[in-house]
Amino acid sequence: MATTGAGGTVPADLAALVGRADDGRPSAPAWVFPTVDDALFRSVRESGARRVALQVPAGLTREARSIADRLRERAGVEVVLVARACFGACDFPSPEEVPRADAAVVLGHAPIPNVRRSLPTFFVEMRHPGGDPEALAERLRDAGLPSPLGLVASVQHLELVGPLTSAAARRGLELRSATGDRRLAYPAQALGCNYTGAEGLAPEVRGFVFLGTGTFHPIGLAFAVDRPVWALDPLQGRLDPPLDRATLVGRRLLRVAQCRDARRWGVLVSSFAGQNRSPMAVTLLERARRRGRDAEALVFGRLDPADLVGRDFDAYVNTACPRIALDDSDLYPRPVLTPPEFLMAIGERPLEPYAFDTYH
Ligand code: SF4
Repeated sequence: MATTGAGGTVPADLAALVGRADDGRPSAPAWVFPTVDDALFRSVRESGARRVALQVPAGLTREARSIADRLRERAGVEVVLVARACFGACDFPSPEEVPRADAAVVLGHAPIPNVRRSLPTFFVEMRHPGGDPEALAERLRDAGLPSPLGLVASVQHLELVGPLTSAAARRGLELRSATGDRRLAYPAQALGCNYTGAEGLAPEVRGFVFLGTGTFHPIGLAFAVDRPVWALDPLQGRLDPPLDRATLVGRRLLRVAQCRDARRWGVLVSSFAGQNRSPMAVTLLERARRRGRDAEALVFGRLDPADLVGRDFDAYVNTACPRIALDDSDLYPRPVLTPPEFLMAIGERPLEPYAFDTYH
């Protein structure tokens, strides 16, 4: 372990990653903890922070107050709960959001190494100790999955990657995992907008297993890699049938087709540090105009479908979270495309192969 900032630790290989953001400016210190425990309280206390912004993901909302109470009592800090919905590691609390806060505690996410933090931040990854690697490997073998396979996991279940890989190898099934780009903190880790570790492995594997719960990551992975994706729930031991990528991609290509004749394009730009791709937005504006389309940038913090009601645009291209277009498109009054889909719609990119909007 290597120390970064006052009194906290992050794994040695992560310390170098989280210290510098891609915009070249130094980032505020980061500390990483597996769960809410004494080490966290001690580190918050020793950091000298007096007022802390606490952000919890949707699944932990009911526990937010008791965690805030424990922080107050054990770390001796004032705690302000950030109530807005938090969708990912990219939209941690900003100093403007919580005036006078001198640190943030973010639950359920790993740091995104190349995104600059303004506040010293304690990331509590909520690692889950559950899941029997032997039983899970049996499950994979009994299902007759091909070998080799890529293995990708949500941050909560990364501890299982090594033991499951060994247990599967003892049963003749090879699982491979890889390191992604600087938006990912750990090998084998997935973000909903970045599966670069898996993308690098795709040519050499016959499919992927996603280790985690829910469908959000398996769907993203299926968009990102043209390989079968099986979802393995480590807690229930359930293995889902492979996702139907052709249908997922087919729906998106239908959207693209609907936008072929769109004249007036809105280019959506988020002001969140971890979702802001302003340079890409500028490029898209230029490319739209070069193709004879009207295009205008619209800036927002958190995008709300109601914000787009009544505007005179035919379609939108979204440079913020790629999953807004892929998962929530139906909520918006006009089609919302990802940047690669937008280039397809204006004739600057072929429809095949479909390109996932990887956020680097
Ligand atoms: S950009 Fe979207 S998918 Fe990526 S971390 Fe943020 S909320 Fe998650």
